Amino acid sequence: MLHCLINKISIVVRTNVFSKLPHIISGSVGVQLGRDARRTFSLSFSVRCSRPAVGGGHGSMFRLSDYDCVGFDLDHTLLRYRISELVSLEYEVMAKFLVAERGYDADHLLRPFGADAVDFLQKGLVLDFERGNVLQLARGGAISKASHGTLPMTDGEVCACYGEEKCWEVASLFHRDPLSTWNGPLTQRMRALLDYFDAPASVAFGRIVDSLDARAGCVVGRYNVWPDILDSLGYMFGREQFAVNGGDYFPALKRNPEKYIHKCSAKVVNWLREIKRSKVVFMVTGSNVDFASFTAQYCLGENWRDLFDIVVCYARKPGFFTGNRPFLRLEGIQEKDELASDKLQFGNMYSQGNWQDLYSLFVAKTGKEQPKCVYFGDNLIQDVYTPKKLELCDIVAVVEELLANHSSEFRHPDTAVLASHLWGPYLRGSSPTIWTEIVHQYAKLCISDLGVLAQQPLDIAFSCIDTLNPNLCSGYHISEHLEEN
Ligand SMILES: [Mg+2]
Repeated sequence: MLHCLINKISIVVRTNVFSKLPHIISGSVGVQLGRDARRTFSLSFSVRCSRPAVGGGHGSMFRLSDYDCVGFDLDHTLLRYRISELVSLEYEVMAKFLVAERGYDADHLLRPFGADAVDFLQKGLVLDFERGNVLQLARGGAISKASHGTLPMTDGEVCACYGEEKCWEVASLFHRDPLSTWNGPLTQRMRALLDYFDAPASVAFGRIVDSLDARAGCVVGRYNVWPDILDSLGYMFGREQFAVNGGDYFPALKRNPEKYIHKCSAKVVNWLREIKRSKVVFMVTGSNVDFASFTAQYCLGENWRDLFDIVVCYARKPGFFTGNRPFLRLEGIQEKDELASDKLQFGNMYSQGNWQDLYSLFVAKTGKEQPKCVYFGDNLIQDVYTPKKLELCDIVAVVEELLANHSSEFRHPDTAVLASHLWGPYLRGSSPTIWTEIVHQYAKLCISDLGVLAQQPLDIAFSCIDTLNPNLCSGYHISEHLEEN
């Protein structure tokens, strides 16, 4: 990987080298930098096979042109949020709720969401409810770092709490089978904060534990605060709240979408159009139809529906992939009757549903017995682990944090949130996390954003993640900059 910094020079290079070898390595090199330019980028080659790739990207290369159906998650995948503003708003709503409705300590909860809080936050942290601890899990499931409340724990304290191996049995179960903690009794013991909708809960959790210890004048040792935090998340994100302007979160986004949501770049929108010319394009989002329509229209434009053959809202992943919940017909934003799989039609939006029925539709529409599907998503359990574990489709993981830990001159505006000094890198670094392991095992590619692919023809081959070599970094593709309209 080469990093370039050239003042007032613009270079575009397309090159083919090693053309006499079985594989042609081709790359696009662009440098457009100036003293006032915000853009620099690292040189990242794509590798084009000189012979047709094995279908479905089952070799070491990934080509979008090998797939029949291309699916996308919406939030944090197609739709990039202004994450600093987003988490600040979320924390504020949660904290106010927890003080006003649950009587928690205002001095702790209503402290500004400042640099210390931002650094304490990281996607993928795990809460140990009973002990009041916040954990980062390493590859293998052991605890790599921990805090009690917001106070970092020493190695000795972690060992005293969880044993010399730093293994918490619940985290080990989560590591073996992440879905084992999704429903059932383990949901009473831990929660992995998987995206920037619930990540600020670690700060609320930590501050409440701090406040209870402070009030007691000692480490209380056993806590039962998660049900209240869960209620605050329900208050904020309950799907009925968007329509009634409740919960403070949706009203803020409605009032001021430009503060919280990036518009998708024309490059990505055009790329979606191009894919749809030859393939099925679908969206499966967890957002309710009203919120999804609002954000998608803001992000992708008035005619966003035309970009997709079919849109599934309130999909309730990972259950969408694991279960057989029926699709529901929508009338406006109202869910109506259940639909059999043979009643699904392209051009429509549906609520809930399941992968098997959706796939049956793809079979019918493509005329292929086993159409090959790829799904792009950011949530490493809902979008990456689950569908791939069940071998339903191939996965491209979208991990925006790659841009914050990237050593290029480009500085992501939300670096403070995306990269924590306290916890270290979310994904890649000297101490790989459990999330590194999941990406490595279940994703074909790990990209910083869709712009990585959108600037390439559909038949360009990208090097895949090598699942057999966890230390190799092939398959990670990082944009040189971020674009938006
Ligand atoms: Mg998402």
